[in-house]
Amino acid sequence: MGGCGSGRPGYKQKSEGCRSLDVNSMNREGCLNAGCAGNFTWSRDGDLIAQIGFHTEERGVVLDYRVRLHGGDWEAVTQYVPLTYTECRFGGQRPYFHCPGIVSKQHCGRRVGKLFSGGRYFLCRHC
Ligand SMILES: [Zn+2]
Repeated sequence: MGGCGSGRPGYKQKSEGCRSLDVNSMNREGCLNAGCAGNFTWSRDGDLIAQIGFHTEERGVVLDYRVRLHGGDWEAVTQYVPLTYTECRFGGQRPYFHCPGIVSKQHCGRRVGKLFSGGRYFLCRHC
């Protein structure tokens, strides 16, 4: 178990055309332990296309990154994503993100294994 110590990259994944965060990959890498911090990077053809920083708290993950939408100015974004755990039938616990999205003034709150970045924030695929 390497875990993800500070300053070391958390994990890398292949570009799927869409930036996504996979709670199970993070869990495997030990990135969901409170106090853990690192970076996620996405690259395409060897070029870095996106990088975000994160640190993990007791009940959630804080994402810290910059986005540039529609050729505008770079914006600093800090996004808090709550985490939840459910008991597995075979013992152990399975982690989920709670989607932090807000649709029609309703908090989404779906329990999802993956979040996708379409615009400014990381949200579930329904949002
Ligand atoms: Zn959602």
